[in-house]
Amino acid sequence: MIKPVSQFLHISNLLVSRVALLYFKTLFINALSCFFLFFSILSSQPAQSQLNKQSIIDPANQAKFRTSHMPYTAFDKLNHTILKIDNATLKVGFAPGKLDLSNQQILNWITNSAEVVSKYYGQFPVNDARVLIVPAQGKGVKTGQAFGYRGAAIRVFVGEKSDLNDLKKDWIAIHEMIHLALPNTHQRHLWLAEGLSVYVESISRAQAGQLSEAFVWNGFMKSMPFGLPKEGDKGLDYTHTWGRTYWGGAIFCLLADIEIRQQTNNKMGLQDALIGLIKKGGNNERIWSISEILEATDYATGKKAVYEQYMKMYNTPMKPDLEKIWKDLGVTKLNGKIVLDNNAPLAKIRQAIFTPRNNQ
Ligand SMILES: [Zn+2]
Repeated sequence: MIKPVSQFLHISNLLVSRVALLYFKTLFINALSCFFLFFSILSSQPAQSQLNKQSIIDPANQAKFRTSHMPYTAFDKLNHTILKIDNATLKVGFAPGKLDLSNQQILNWITNSAEVVSKYYGQFPVNDARVLIVPAQGKGVKTGQAFGYRGAAIRVFVGEKSDLNDLKKDWIAIHEMIHLALPNTHQRHLWLAEGLSVYVESISRAQAGQLSEAFVWNGFMKSMPFGLPKEGDKGLDYTHTWGRTYWGGAIFCLLADIEIRQQTNNKMGLQDALIGLIKKGGNNERIWSISEILEATDYATGKKAVYEQYMKMYNTPMKPDLEKIWKDLGVTKLNGKIVLDNNAPLAKIRQAIFTPRNNQ
């Protein structure tokens, strides 16, 4: 499963409002995460029998690594493995707990994920990052968070029964690493952070050969309608539902990408704008205003496309015609299969979005 949609849909409204309440108590986005999942993990404590099986693991010591914020102090006391990814040094630590996977298998997965992100941005978004792996109940990569207030960090919860296939299909590590590429900003712009992580995760993995283009479009066609405004919704800055935050943000990214490409004769896209943002010093260890972020992203392309897209969507429930966009891009679904039409009006733009940057 590539997109957060199926993982998130089962979460009750009650939980969402509880999470939203907690979240919006802080002024700035300083801990980005798939919160909806995260809280479901917190509420499912390991069963007693499993704790007994791991009697050498102190539950209190485990709890230190499951706090709502990054446990920087506890992390720094762990043994670390250093991974060098292009410009970056990743310090990986394992919280107490048991995993079926070996540490080396986890380290390989973190390396591969970081390489996908680094390839997309032309560098890893920060020079140093802490990576905390927390064993969790069950199977599969469960959830993650990104933090920046005491240095870039991500925390990923990995089910103790996970196998290599679970790591292969994981999207969470990359999603969280992409959060490191955006400065912290006011909480009302959370949709921008989540939208970028959802959108770039798919595109970057496709560019790296992990996903096919058809797979990505299938996911977008299925899930982007969740991001359209419902009755009573306002602009993206003012309606903070799950759909508007994750998929409304992703729609913004797609539209901005197309717009930049149309304005630059398809020479540049959102990827170039985001690379420009990092080059201007933007990453999640900084706190920037939305204006600073938009200015830095537009600077690289010499256009105002990202700013203009923001102005169209931030306080107005803009409802783009997604069906027309798929058609113009040359993406259709026939008998459940994605068919790509290279003669469609925006087919060249679609192809350019999926072309690794050094090949353009
Ligand atoms: Zn996220």
